[in-house]
Amino acid sequence: MRVLVLLGAPGAGKGTQAHILARHLGLPRVATGDLFRAAVREGTPLGTAAQAYMERGELVPDEITVGMLLERLAADDAARGAILDGFPRTRSQAAALDRALAERGAAVEAALYVDVPADELLARLSGRWLCEAAGHTYHETAYPPRVPGICDVDGSRLVQRDDDRPEVVRARLEKQLGALAEVVEHYRAAGILQAVDGRRPIAAVTNDLLDSIEPVPYWRTHP
Ligand code: AMP
Repeated sequence: MRVLVLLGAPGAGKGTQAHILARHLGLPRVATGDLFRAAVREGTPLGTAAQAYMERGELVPDEITVGMLLERLAADDAARGAILDGFPRTRSQAAALDRALAERGAAVEAALYVDVPADELLARLSGRWLCEAAGHTYHETAYPPRVPGICDVDGSRLVQRDDDRPEVVRARLEKQLGALAEVVEHYRAAGILQAVDGRRPIAAVTNDLLDSIEPVPYWRTHP
C-alpha cells in the first residue's frame, strides 16, 4: 500500500499537485475537505456535525475526521494506496494515521511538503476558485481557466468557497500554520519529509515532488 501525504498551507497549491500526482501515479486522491463538503451537501449526520466548524474556518474535531478518513482508505479503490490531501492537519491526526497503517503492516511512504511563505499565501488565496464537480482549483491571475467561470477539466461551474473570504482566510491561516508546523515536524522526525519550494511554477513543483519519490523524472514520461 502506497500512502503519500501532501502537506501545505491553504493556497500553497497542494490540491493542484494532489490532482496531478494522483493521475500520474494512478492512485486515488483522498481529500478530507472534499469528503466533508460532500457530506454537508448530502445532509448526512457527519456533514451536520462538521458544518459549523467549517463555516468558522476551524478544524473539525479528530473524533469525526480520523474515522471518516480511515473509512475512506478502507474502500476498494484505495487498496493500492492513496494521495492524502488535507490530512493529517494536526500532530494527533498524524499519529492516528501511523497507528492505523501499522495495523495493516503499512506506513506513510513520504510526506511531500509544498512550502510557501505566509505573506504569499494571503495574496494567492484572495483569487482562488474551485469547480463544483471535483474541486479542481484555479486562480484569477496565476492559473485562470481557459473559459472564465468554467472548469477546464470537467466543464462544471467555478465557485468561490465561503471560507475563502479574506477575513476567514486570515483566521484560518493563523490557526492552521501552527498545526501545519507540528505535522511537518512529525514527518521530519520520522525521516520521510520531502520539502519543495512552492513558489515555483506548477510543473516545476510537480517535477520536484516526483523526483523526491521516484527515480524516473516527470519530463521523461511527459515530454
Ligand atoms: P479544505 O478543503 O482542506 O480546506 O477543508 C475545508 C474544511 O474542512 C476545513 O477548513 C476544516 O473545517 C475541514 N477539514 C478538512 N480536512 C480536515 C482535517 N484533516 N482535520 C480537521 N478538519 C478538516
